[in-house]
Amino acid sequence: MTWHVNILTLFPDMFPGSLGQSISGRALEKKLWSYNAINIRDFANDKHSTVDDTPFGGGAGMVMRPDTVEKALLSIATAGKKLYMSPRGKPLTQEKVKQLATTENLTLLCGRYEGVDQRVLDAHDFEEVSIGDYVLSGGEPAALILMDACIRLLPNVMGNSTTPDEESFSNGLLEYPHYTKPDPWTDANNITHKVPDILKSGHHKNIAIWREEQSIALTKERRPDLIATLAQKK
Ligand code: SAM
Repeated sequence: MTWHVNILTLFPDMFPGSLGQSISGRALEKKLWSYNAINIRDFANDKHSTVDDTPFGGGAGMVMRPDTVEKALLSIATAGKKLYMSPRGKPLTQEKVKQLATTENLTLLCGRYEGVDQRVLDAHDFEEVSIGDYVLSGGEPAALILMDACIRLLPNVMGNSTTPDEESFSNGLLEYPHYTKPDPWTDANNITHKVPDILKSGHHKNIAIWREEQSIALTKERRPDLIATLAQKK
């Protein structure tokens, strides 16, 4: 399958953006994934190409009109799973990313201004997804992040250059620390740092145990919420 993403946006030139570089860029060239950025403004029905209007009930800012968003959506032949990038959504997790990376067609709606009229989200079953507890000025960077996280999981994208099962979050823990050459290494303050001996021992079982211990300690220190979730699952 080719993983395909439709993006509904007021700024189609923001795509592929960073996804045109490095691993995702090479995968795009090899047609391991594809995208179609649709300009919502092309579906406006007045001579000023208006896509937003004032909110009912008053308040600051503008709201994206449901009729224009719907027309843009209906122009897509196979919309597949529809997601609205939104700070109100459920947080994006690695588990969700894995699910989305095996969903052949996705449509990502990128909001601007105060967001999108609720009725079009309800009428077309958009699931709201957030990339974190902060507010961006638009959904496009959030869509790029979601796509990046999915693309690296697609078959043949990463080759052998990573081990997804050991990465942060895949087993509910943060990943252990990494080290490479030189060893020892002397920093700019003339302090010498050594790589932990265990990693140079060649003893694979002990290395695996050490890494797991490091993972658990780091997760306890930085993300006790993940430890609590793991404990609930057991
Ligand atoms: N008024 C909205 C609120 O308080 O929930 C924020 C609107 S924000 C300025 C404009 C758009 O940016 C949103 O419609 C959404 O598409 C996108 N956005 C902002 N923060 C986001 C986040 N954390 N995750 C995903 N999308 C986000």
